[in-house]
Amino acid sequence: MKKIKVFIFLFFVAFVLHAQDAKMNSFIANLMSKMTVDEKIGQLNLPGSGDIVTGQASNSDIGKKIREGKVGGLFNIKSVAKIRTVQKVAVEESRLKIPLIFGMDVIHGYETVFPIPLGLSCSWDMEEIETSARIAATEASADGICWTFSPMVDIARDPRWGRIAEGNGEDVYLGSQIAKAMVKGYQGDYSKNTNIMSCVKHYAMYGAAEAGRDYNTTDMSRVRMFNEYLPPYKAAVDAGAGSVMASFNEVDGIPATANKFLMSDVLRKQWGFKGFVVTDYTGINEIIEHGLGDLKTVSSLALKAGIDMDMVGEGFLTTLKKSLSEGKITQQQIDDACRLVLEAKYKLGLFDNPYKYCDDKRAATEIFTDANRKTAREIAADCFVLLKNQNNILPLKKNGTIALIGPLADNKENMPGTWSVAADFSKATSVLQGLKDVAGNNVKILYARGSNLDGDSIFEERAGMFGKSMHRDNRPADEIIQDALTVANQADVIVASLGESAEMTGESSSRSNIEIPQVQKDLLKALLKAGKPVVLVLFTGRPLAIKWENDNVPTILNVWFGGSEAGHAIADVLFGEVNPSGKLSTTWPQNVGQVPIYYNHKNTGRPLADGAWFQKFRSNYLDVSNDPVYPFGYGLSYTNFSYSDLKLSSTSLKGNQTLTATVTLTNTGSKDGKEVVQLYIRDLVGSITRPVKELKGFQKIFLKAGESKTVSFNITTNDLKFYNSDLKYDWESGDFVIMVGGNSKDVKTAKVNWVK
Ligand code: BGC
Repeated sequence: MKKIKVFIFLFFVAFVLHAQDAKMNSFIANLMSKMTVDEKIGQLNLPGSGDIVTGQASNSDIGKKIREGKVGGLFNIKSVAKIRTVQKVAVEESRLKIPLIFGMDVIHGYETVFPIPLGLSCSWDMEEIETSARIAATEASADGICWTFSPMVDIARDPRWGRIAEGNGEDVYLGSQIAKAMVKGYQGDYSKNTNIMSCVKHYAMYGAAEAGRDYNTTDMSRVRMFNEYLPPYKAAVDAGAGSVMASFNEVDGIPATANKFLMSDVLRKQWGFKGFVVTDYTGINEIIEHGLGDLKTVSSLALKAGIDMDMVGEGFLTTLKKSLSEGKITQQQIDDACRLVLEAKYKLGLFDNPYKYCDDKRAATEIFTDANRKTAREIAADCFVLLKNQNNILPLKKNGTIALIGPLADNKENMPGTWSVAADFSKATSVLQGLKDVAGNNVKILYARGSNLDGDSIFEERAGMFGKSMHRDNRPADEIIQDALTVANQADVIVASLGESAEMTGESSSRSNIEIPQVQKDLLKALLKAGKPVVLVLFTGRPLAIKWENDNVPTILNVWFGGSEAGHAIADVLFGEVNPSGKLSTTWPQNVGQVPIYYNHKNTGRPLADGAWFQKFRSNYLDVSNDPVYPFGYGLSYTNFSYSDLKLSSTSLKGNQTLTATVTLTNTGSKDGKEVVQLYIRDLVGSITRPVKELKGFQKIFLKAGESKTVSFNITTNDLKFYNSDLKYDWESGDFVIMVGGNSKDVKTAKVNWVK
């Protein structure tokens, strides 16, 4: 009976969806039958917002284009008033009154900023990540935005690449879970005016730029592509992402923006993507620099490859008609792209109500609210990763004197981190403010700057873009350190807020040296000599090479860039109001020479023996061991967790059986806390080489002090599948090692045999 009911329900849902599609299709077919070629090409144009924001919308250059039907949407315009003005031109003054779509880089929050994505990924908390996306969507939509250029799901294994900050780290499984959560958080079911369309980016393999240099060449085997880089984009598409952004880089010798294999063969045909594809900024024009021809040629290449909307460059607008008349492209290709853009507008409900996202009243009550800030504070605290805590220096006591020192201690504008377009930096909380707000009356907080961000003022300028100044102190470095030591000597404990500025990562912010700048290291060394306990509060948008710091500083809390409420969240963790539970989503190398270093590497034919540093004619280095400083999945807590041996429901399985792997997790410490229990699998023998381990599941578990809990993972043959050398996705019979633990290195293991 139950089965019949489910069947009837599913049949009903399918019927409704079919009817909705039919309605949309006939609406759009009817509209397109009235459109000229120019108007169709106009829908594919996403120009920069130009001077529209200054008023006089209709007479401005962009206003004129909108009136002429030459604009499909605009991006990075802030406020309902401005967006309404422009939309009005589109729906009142253009011939066919087609509404515009309004996009923005709402990457990790809107005005309420959440931690940078790399930080968010370290929460391993899909509910929190989804919530952050939902709040971002609510705030952005209250300001007129209906489309966000997020999530960014580029796998990155090279911390030199500045944009590693914008993604979810090195792992495909974790990255795929986050991709889904974010799409869900942004889009919901599009029914409300708080749901906005997501745009998964940058498709594809942008994070594999050679030498970590932004926009650089990407080249890899198809097997690696399908197993290690493409899954998060696919996960976002499967979750219903409405749009996809092409990446700047080339893949297989063809820029992604003109890459038919990526856009048509994989995205459309294999994955069944139904939304539209937009370029990244001047992606089409950049194909000229890549060396594939002039603007007319590359614009037609992009359209034919499967690009539907051209951001900024206007190659489509200015050349497609000519290419059509020359037979270089077909009317069908223009129609297909136009239809997909119109469908997106339809799904967002803009044809029903072009002002759906232009409610003048919402902004005042829905943006940067106390509730949103409270959530941002809680989420930020869950993203911090406690890297070291010798002698339990943390949590700090709420009495005595604290010396807060460092160039990032009293700097609001760097707290939100890179890509915080909509943020009001003046409303962010600095560490100094956060400590004062949380410490209570029995703590005296002293502050000194201690050093500049970097010794080189020109470097510091480059690392302080978008109004995120570091307020350079032009005195000699020794003098600045001396001031700090005077302050440090009066304190019981030193909190050193050091690391990178917000714009030392992000777009076009690659570094060849991934250490803390020397001038800050000098400060740290001087502080360590003061003979007081030192807590390093580390700001960064990438895994840093901090071997020296790990060897010499007793306590390190990595706080990424925590968003608007960073200062409060940091204080919450420092004082133990929140027990840290973040786990790294990237491997942290000993030095830049080990890069790329990642946990799910292959074994090679000459692996190094476990625990060895160097063995001649084995895969290793003369001058550094193969170990990272911190492995993927690593992070400490103020309490301790112990894992029992791993129990398996069976050690010999056949076909589509399910294996249950169980451990008992015990909080053996004296504080309540959360632990991310991680499941890894190694496929011991395959038709192609397989990684030494791959994350296949995780659960974030809360345990009271002293409490134990049984944690189980159900493993199916889906978890064993991979793309083989024919790019067929399947699993193969054989032996598998099942591993469960609190990071990718320290695991309990057991072996199974699983045959078809
Ligand atoms: C970035 C994208 C971004 C776009 C629009 C580009 O420079 O690569 O990530 O969405 O600008 O602002």
